[in-house]
Amino acid sequence: MSRAIYPGSFDPVTYGHIDIIKRAAKIFDELTVSVLKNSAKTPLFSVDERVNMLKEVCMDLPNVKVESYSGLLAEYAEKNHTEVIIRGLRAVSDFEYELQIAQTNHKISPSVDTIFLTTSLEYSYLSSSIVREVAAYGGDIHHFVPDFIAKKVYERAGEKANGNK
Ligand code: ADP
Repeated sequence: MSRAIYPGSFDPVTYGHIDIIKRAAKIFDELTVSVLKNSAKTPLFSVDERVNMLKEVCMDLPNVKVESYSGLLAEYAEKNHTEVIIRGLRAVSDFEYELQIAQTNHKISPSVDTIFLTTSLEYSYLSSSIVREVAAYGGDIHHFVPDFIAKKVYERAGEKANGNK
């Protein structure tokens, strides 16, 4: 059985992530989308909120499960008997960072390899931070994320703006 992990912050999940999830789910028998518990970042959504949003997005994909993890990705992959990490590549700017991370993970756990899926053209500009930024200024994010997520992003961006007043 072929397994892969698709890790990330997913703060929030975008159509770009969803495209990678759907494509990876076709290639592998089992895909685990995993939200990184990263104490260094101040996220818009908690890990549990992000996991729940991803679960809703992946509801119709029977071979996809959603989890969270903390610590070293390579060790988490090994513990889950998964030898493939999926990452999405948007532009050359992603490449240098992703190469370094992939090589580090392979060094830590030599059985673990990273496979890159190139972004679909229509999503190559899209990132979670763009979504947060546009929403913070009241812009339209419906082309970037599913409607139920857009609603949550606007609510949260509004709370943040009011909290900062
Ligand atoms: P991180 O904070 O670890 O960069 P993200 O949640 O931003 O995590 O992204 C997770 C993965 O999804 C990364 O491999 C990233 O390159 C990829 N990704 C993000 N946005 C897109 C997109 N629009 N198209 C394809 N891949 C994407």
